[in-house]
Amino acid sequence: MDKSIGEINMSEITVDINLCTHCFEDTSFSAGNGKFVNRIPSDAGWMCAECQSVPCDNCEKLTLSYEVTPDGNWICEDCIKVDVR
Ligand SMILES: [Zn+2]
Ligand SMILES: [Zn+2]
Repeated sequence: MDKSIGEINMSEITVDINLCTHCFEDTSFSAGNGKFVNRIPSDAGWMCAECQSVPCDNCEKLTLSYEVTPDGNWICEDCIKVDVR
């Protein structure tokens, strides 16, 4: 019975490819949850913007536009601006 798992038909796979490979949220346009706009191609399909975001090591806000400092911290766009030397 377990072997039936290997027999998923191709049409189901096409549907699943719209799911975020990380949180499995539907990123397809028809889902209407806004994730389609910000989704990013990943190895096996798509990743939604939230899953691409990292927590800023300075203000702990989730951010997509971060920079890695020489000592390996993730700093968000806002904190980069504040930190201009
Ligand atoms: Zn996600
Ligand atoms: Zn920050």
